[in-house]
Amino acid sequence: MNTITPIKEITDVIVENGGQSFQLCYQCGICDVVCPWNRVRSFSMRKLVRQANFGLTDIESEDIWRCTTCGNCPQRCPRGVNQIEVGVSLRRIATEYDVFPEAVTPIITVADSLRAEGNPFNMERSERANWAKELNVRTFTEGMEILYSPGCYLSYDPRMNTVAAATVKILNEAGVDFGILGAKESCCGESIRKTGNEEVFRGLAKENIKNFIDNGVKRILVSSPHCYHSFKNEYPEFNVNFEIVHMSQFLSELMDAGRLKPTKEYNKKVTYHDPCYLGRHNDIFDAPRNVLKHVLGAEVTEMADFRENSLCCGGGGGRIWMETPKEERFADLRLQQALDVDAEVLVTTCPYCITNFTDSALGFPEGQALEIKDITEIVAEVI
Ligand code: SF4
Ligand code: SF4
Repeated sequence: MNTITPIKEITDVIVENGGQSFQLCYQCGICDVVCPWNRVRSFSMRKLVRQANFGLTDIESEDIWRCTTCGNCPQRCPRGVNQIEVGVSLRRIATEYDVFPEAVTPIITVADSLRAEGNPFNMERSERANWAKELNVRTFTEGMEILYSPGCYLSYDPRMNTVAAATVKILNEAGVDFGILGAKESCCGESIRKTGNEEVFRGLAKENIKNFIDNGVKRILVSSPHCYHSFKNEYPEFNVNFEIVHMSQFLSELMDAGRLKPTKEYNKKVTYHDPCYLGRHNDIFDAPRNVLKHVLGAEVTEMADFRENSLCCGGGGGRIWMETPKEERFADLRLQQALDVDAEVLVTTCPYCITNFTDSALGFPEGQALEIKDITEIVAEVI
């Protein structure tokens, strides 16, 4: 058995860190069959789980950082092992001992930036609402219909600012009474938590919760599936319950209710990518597809992997901040799947997916012809 302190065996520490379900594994190997890593290089979650069982975990190995927490193997495991929790528990141990392989080191800076400025980009907190300056967006006050929480990427990333602007256009068009918290908003903390940094996650969550309560927030609209997941499924650990709505759900509701009416045609071949944290983790598969049904002229086709079997973009589990060699990017495979169904537009509704697909398209000659859009941008174009 490995001991990582003079008195504790590693299996005990993994259990203490929430990874106890490794004990259920009977080594069938299904997790490795469904894992997207094995389409680009070898990686074995089964082996990590086995090593945990025998107390032979190597916390210096880069493999403990590979899982993108895509959710594919936990939904297939016949023994109910939660591989994501096992993986996060290993990362918590590595984080505690400050052991980070080269490709993973960017998360050290990210964690510092989240602590200091509430965002992963080392941007100033005071600039968080700059995207909204020209758009006359109001500050949220108690009694408004909904708080819009754009999250870090839509607030700071120039590509994603356009999605925030499209959201505002739509909300105004539908007559939604909404506001933002601007510089008071912090990162939801979902992804840093999956890197094993529980301390930073808890700090961010408490700050956000305090601001939601102080400002009388009850309903929150989010653009990122990662914010959705965190606010909806993780913040209740702090004994709070806000109503969380993802933009794809809100669009679907607004369109079904006739509050939002497309007036222009969108005569393009479109394919929809299910983000892991919207689909597999939160079962939201129909709402974005319903939105596309309302878009006149759009010819919608499914890719080879869709809904529960969607192919991860590679950005979950904090991987969005880590180095991934070009030949190992799942996003390249996804672009090819979109091209295989002759799509002109790859539409999704997650800032990580858009970032990864856009990066991949740059190094992919045929990929550059593919438009990569958030569903919000398409709706904003046709109303
Ligand atoms: S699918 Fe489950 S039981 Fe099978 S090897 Fe993976 S963790 Fe073990
Ligand atoms: S959650 Fe996804 S990326 Fe992680 S081991 Fe399972 S299939 Fe692979």
